[in-house]
Amino acid sequence: MTLPTPRPTPPPIALPTGLPACPKHMTYGPCGGVGAGGACEVGTMRCVFLDGPVVAWSGGPGAGEVDAPGRELLAIAARRPLVLSGMPAAPLSAESIVECSAPLRGAVDAVLAGDAATSRVQFPPAYRAALIRAQGLRVWAGLNCRDRNRVALEAEIAALAHAGAAAVHCVTGDHTLSGLRPEAMPVFDLEGTELVPLARSAGLLVSVAESPNAPPVAHRAARLAEKARAGAHLAMLQYCGEAADVAAFATAVRDAGAHVPLIPGVPVVVDRPGAELLASFAGAALLAGFVERVLTAADPYAAGVEVALAYARELVDVEGVAGVLLGGGAAPGSEPLLATAFAEIGRELGGGT
Ligand code: SF4
Repeated sequence: MTLPTPRPTPPPIALPTGLPACPKHMTYGPCGGVGAGGACEVGTMRCVFLDGPVVAWSGGPGAGEVDAPGRELLAIAARRPLVLSGMPAAPLSAESIVECSAPLRGAVDAVLAGDAATSRVQFPPAYRAALIRAQGLRVWAGLNCRDRNRVALEAEIAALAHAGAAAVHCVTGDHTLSGLRPEAMPVFDLEGTELVPLARSAGLLVSVAESPNAPPVAHRAARLAEKARAGAHLAMLQYCGEAADVAAFATAVRDAGAHVPLIPGVPVVVDRPGAELLASFAGAALLAGFVERVLTAADPYAAGVEVALAYARELVDVEGVAGVLLGGGAAPGSEPLLATAFAEIGRELGGGT
């Protein structure tokens, strides 16, 4: 295992004067939480990055050889689209991880273990990675800057590499005020872009997030290009509409000078609570009639699997798309059902082979 090399913090870049500061202390904003009208995800002020140019990455190119677990995923991506899914297990439950892992084994290539606004308190990423790996699944660990300072992030990255995680998804994270546990102190000592070179130096495959439909829409591709310059191997996209919309974004990213493979999200809805969770995601654009079609079907589970599979098949044919991420939420107690839906779709797409 190679320990991450602490990097000097890039020199601060001055934001336009006279504006309030970003509540997440971001330099390489805007984050994905910008409201449709340009409002900050925290409070009612405008996002401070709306009118400025995209801030260029100033920390030098991220580098580092990818270790064996991540190389396995790169080898799969070289022969067919990657099939990833969320880990729908209940928070803080090793038993739920065991239960949800069973259907996913052999059906997806890796599981993304992140968090949602409704489940902020989770086992630490490296411990969760170890639990999931013990169930025979590759781990794509989510790591946010909201809950940890740079020392804790460096320790977590080292632990993820030691625990055999294949990849890490580096995000700034939603502000604590926007979800469960709003009383918690938000940290934001680093931001997602600054995590990228740290994770790369530890031998992990590294992904970043982008929300193509969040304002300022015209700057989103260029912003992702800066994350690629920081060393991101891949980018996961917030749900962003029709396959043609994903294709247009992929073209814009290439035009911005980056050739970072994209992994768009595929929403999987099998019940009403899952649909409500989906509706709460900032910057998400769902297919027209998508949720209604599932919830009004005689068999919502079958309809949810059918529409998600059809959408995923369209997405993997888009130039620049390297795979899909099956995501969504479930009502408490329905986590294994959602895992089973992920597995059904994953198998049809060739995942886990
Ligand atoms: S929307 Fe995000 S990036 Fe913009 S000011 Fe608010 S927290 Fe910062």
